Amino acid sequence: MRVLVLGAGFGGLELTTQLSDELGGDVEVVLIDKGEGFVFGFSKLDVMFGRTVADAVVHPYRDLVKPGVRFVQTTIRAIDPVARRVETDDGAFDADILVVALGADLDPSATPGLVEGGHEFYTVPGAFALRDVLADFGGGHVIVGVTSTPFKCPPAPSETALLVHDYLTERGLRADSEISLLMPLPAPIPPSPQASEAILAAFAERGIRWCPNVLVRALDPERKVALLADGDEVPYDLFLGVPKHHAPEVVQQSGMCVDGWIPVDPLTLQTSYPGVYAVGDVTSVGTPKAGVFAEGQAAVVAASIIAGQAGAASPVEYDGSGKCYLEFGSDGVARVEVTFMPGRAPSGTFEPASAEGTALKAEFGTTRIRRWFGRDWS
Ligand SMILES: Cc1cc2nc3c(=O)[nH]c(=O)nc-3n(C[C@H](O)[C@H](O)[C@H](O)COP(=O)(O)OP(=O)(O)OC[C@H]3O[C@@H](n4cnc5c(N)ncnc54)[C@H](O)[C@@H]3O)c2cc1C
Repeated sequence: MRVLVLGAGFGGLELTTQLSDELGGDVEVVLIDKGEGFVFGFSKLDVMFGRTVADAVVHPYRDLVKPGVRFVQTTIRAIDPVARRVETDDGAFDADILVVALGADLDPSATPGLVEGGHEFYTVPGAFALRDVLADFGGGHVIVGVTSTPFKCPPAPSETALLVHDYLTERGLRADSEISLLMPLPAPIPPSPQASEAILAAFAERGIRWCPNVLVRALDPERKVALLADGDEVPYDLFLGVPKHHAPEVVQQSGMCVDGWIPVDPLTLQTSYPGVYAVGDVTSVGTPKAGVFAEGQAAVVAASIIAGQAGAASPVEYDGSGKCYLEFGSDGVARVEVTFMPGRAPSGTFEPASAEGTALKAEFGTTRIRRWFGRDWS
C-alpha cells in the first residue's frame, strides 16, 4: 500500500510515526514537506522572548529515519484528490491513500499596514525576527492584536501578553509601558470558562488591558494607530499581530475546500473523496486549530490505515479531545483539557499554572521529538 502524507507538521509527523511503528516496511509511506525542519508553535514564543535560540528549536527533517517512510523535501504544486495524485517540484506522486496535513498558511500582507507598521509573531521568520525587535524596544504601548478568525492556538495571544509583561518587567520597562490585548473572542478561551477566568485574573493582577470582541482591520504606520473593525482607533508603539489564516493555495485550488477549509467526517477524518483523509489546521473539523488536535486526528487516521491493511474496520473514532499547555510566564504553565464533539457544548478540565505544568509541557515537547525524530531534545 502506498500512503502519501502531505505536510510534515504535527499531523503528518504523528501519522507517519504511527504507521512506521506498526507496519514498518509493509507499507510504503512518502512524507512531503517544503520546509527544512519542524518547529513547535510554542517554540516561536520561546525564541521571540529570548528564552532560547532559533537553532535549538528547529528539528531538521534530515533526522527523520523511519522504516517504511521516505521524506521528500519539495513544494507541492497541485493535488488531484480524485486520482490521488500530487504534482511537486520533484515530480508526481501517486497514492492508494492520500492524507492532507498541510496546515494553515499565514498572510501578513492581507492586513493593510501590518507589514510596514507592525510585526507578526505567528510565522517562524516573524517570531524569530521579533527577538531583536523586543530587545531594542524602549517601552511604550504594546498591542497584541488579532486580525482575523479562525486563528491557530487561540490561547497564544493571551500567553504573549503575559510574556510581554514579564519581559518588560525584567528589563525595568514595565512601569513606563502599557499592554493591551485585542481579541475577536468574548473570553480568552471560550470553551474553558475556568481557564478564561484564570487568565483574566492574571491580566488584572498585571495591569494588562483586555479588549474582547475586537478585530484589528488595519494599521496606519504613519500615525501608529491600529484601526479596528468597529471604527475605533488605538495608538501603539509596538504592534504584535496574529495575521490572517487561510488554507494553503494548493489546497484551495484542489477543489477540496468548502468555505475555505477541507470538510471531513468528524469521526473518521475522511474527506468526500474515497481514500483521501485530511487532518489538522487545514480542516473544518470543529476543533480549534492546534497541534494537539492535529495529532489526535492523525492517530485516528493511522488506526484506520493499519486496520485497513489487515482487512479490518477502523477500531477507533475521533473523540475531539486535546490537552493544551498555557504559559502564565513567571507563574508557570497551566493545563486545559477540552473535548469538542459535534452537537455538544465543549467540556473540559483546568489545572492552574504551576512549576509542575512547566515540567509537563517540556516533557510534551521532548517525547514528541524522541518519537518523531528519534533524538533527545532539552
Ligand atoms: C505562537 C504559536 C503557539 C502555538 N502553541 C501551540 C501549543 O502550545 N500547543 C498546540 O497544540 N498548538 C500550538 N500552536 C498551533 C500549532 O502550531 C498548529 O496548530 C499545528 O502545527 C497544526 O498542525 P498541522 O499538522 O495541521 O499543520 P502544520 O504543523 O502547520 O504543518 C503543515 C506543514 O505543511 C507544509 N506545507 C504547507 N504547504 C505546503 C506545500 N505547498 N508544499 C509542501 N509542504 C507544504 C508546511 O511546511 C508545514 O510543515 C501554536 C501556534 C502558534 C503560531
